[in-house]
Amino acid sequence: MQQHSRDFLQAASTAIGDPESAGTRKALGLLMPKLREQAIETFGGSDDFSALRAEVKAIRQHALGHLAHYLESFTSAARENGSAVHFARNGNELNDIVLDICARHEAHRIAKGKSMITEETGLNAALEAAGFAVRETDLGEYIIQEANETPSHIVGPALHKSQADIRELFLDRHDLGERDLADATEMVAEARQVLREEFLAADVGIIGSNALIAENGYSMLVTNEGNGDLCANLPPVLIVCTSVDRVLPRATDAMAMLRLLVRSTTGQAVSCYTSFYAGPRRPGDVDGPVETHFVLLDNHRSEILASDYAEMLQCIRCGACLNHCPVYMNAGGHAYGWVYPGPMGSVLTPLLTSLEDSAHLPDACTACGRCEEVCPASIPLPDLLRDLRRDKFEQRVTARRWRWGMQIHAWLALHPRLYQRVTNLAVAVMHRVGRRHGVIRRLPFAGGWLEARDLPTPAAKTFQAMHQESLGK
Ligand code: SF4
Repeated sequence: MQQHSRDFLQAASTAIGDPESAGTRKALGLLMPKLREQAIETFGGSDDFSALRAEVKAIRQHALGHLAHYLESFTSAARENGSAVHFARNGNELNDIVLDICARHEAHRIAKGKSMITEETGLNAALEAAGFAVRETDLGEYIIQEANETPSHIVGPALHKSQADIRELFLDRHDLGERDLADATEMVAEARQVLREEFLAADVGIIGSNALIAENGYSMLVTNEGNGDLCANLPPVLIVCTSVDRVLPRATDAMAMLRLLVRSTTGQAVSCYTSFYAGPRRPGDVDGPVETHFVLLDNHRSEILASDYAEMLQCIRCGACLNHCPVYMNAGGHAYGWVYPGPMGSVLTPLLTSLEDSAHLPDACTACGRCEEVCPASIPLPDLLRDLRRDKFEQRVTARRWRWGMQIHAWLALHPRLYQRVTNLAVAVMHRVGRRHGVIRRLPFAGGWLEARDLPTPAAKTFQAMHQESLGK
């Protein structure tokens, strides 16, 4: 069941303490190191990670710095190719546009490729409420749709599920006769069989996009299963749902991004399928949709672009920051309560929803710095998280007692003599309290922190006090 980001603390505690979530942690614990190793190995090849990173950062910053211009170029090129381009200010508008297209074509069945934007807008629920049958066709998305769950990772939606979980799910949901789906190959074959029929029967295909190319009006999609191509080419109507910040000036820019995206995501040198969609089929084409629509979502991205958080829009949705984050690894993706988990989600969710409703996410960080180190788009995630904490304080989202505590600390830090006296006194008291057992197990305002760890008893005097004494002061 989808939780809300405001429940993060509770959900993360439950996920960490709950024996039922141990399977999820085990699945992540097995998979994440492999993904990390593969990425390191692939980057050990001829291409230089730093150089590629600098190139992609420059491309993304240039595209975002001239976003209106490139969106205009993309729109006119796509329209020349015969596609329709729609802009949606928010999730409801995107859903309404898609519903309207589906209704105009009297569609019944919809085949969907993986799209985080449609997760963001809740498109499936809107389509189903209007009576359309929607089938997710990415294998991971298909599994979680069958399980009535939400994605736990932006690249691998079902990464939290083990092979045994998936087998059990298919045995429960599918009419398998004598087959017992003994191995992964059989499970994939079963999913393929079901999905083939969905592709052939679909009236509308909906996919996402990794990049929109301003110079020619094409969109680029990267997949490992080829389901995106089947969604795009078999149904008569294709709808590409993406966000306004995906636009890049040239096809060569998309290629540069692709070199980093795939390696950072799965550690592959190249993805199995990289497709460019140019619009509806032209006279003489043997396949392809007869009608193509692009629906471009803003949903606060223009505001983010104009804010101090603009760098977050450089994100290429590779998922590397999740794979390296110790908080994500332990809490799991569902604890974050919305579409985007991990470090990138802890920044994006407050910006796309509200800081009040996701106030704990900027604190879900150990400040280890791994996310920034591995981010192919060079996004300073720890800095952005710290800035969000500052915003929380300034906007009084932080609880009053913490704000008072921080104000007192800041005031003391500006008065060093008093600060030293107070810390000398506090340390002396803590030393007396804890010297018998060598640890302190209770401390005002630190109950949560001490629940899971012991605080070693400090020395009788602070370093500063000892230093002053050694100087004879
Ligand atoms: S923030 Fe960086 S590492 Fe994380 S998903 Fe985006 S591009 Fe990848």
